[in-house]
Amino acid sequence: MNEPVRNPPKLELCPLCGKPLTIYGPEDWKPSFDDPDSGGDPYNAVCECGFSFSNDSYDYDKFSAELNRRAERTGRWVPVVNTWTQDEHEYGATWYKCDQCGRLCETKQPYCHCGAHMIRGAEHA
Ligand SMILES: [Zn+2]
Ligand SMILES: [Zn+2]
Repeated sequence: MNEPVRNPPKLELCPLCGKPLTIYGPEDWKPSFDDPDSGGDPYNAVCECGFSFSNDSYDYDKFSAELNRRAERTGRWVPVVNTWTQDEHEYGATWYKCDQCGRLCETKQPYCHCGAHMIRGAEHA
């Protein structure tokens, strides 16, 4: 594994959990007898939550621009009543549905797993 890039400039936080991303690469690669043309690894971003991103770019500006665009996607939590049956009892609770991917979540997280940054204010009850 390459060394992480120190203090990567102009970078948004993880689009899933909102923590700082760790940026790797590009590999300081030279052609060798065993590996004459792979070119080494491009930039990639990883997060401790499991998120990873790469656009196969060796150009930091292009890489960070695409990564930031991903982080800027926004969505809203729409309250929905979720019901389920357990031990012959019916339960119901208000959960929240991502208007981007339809994923149901028990609580309003700041980021949905589809990558949308969830914004407040316009939820319809
Ligand atoms: Zn994360
Ligand atoms: Zn979503």
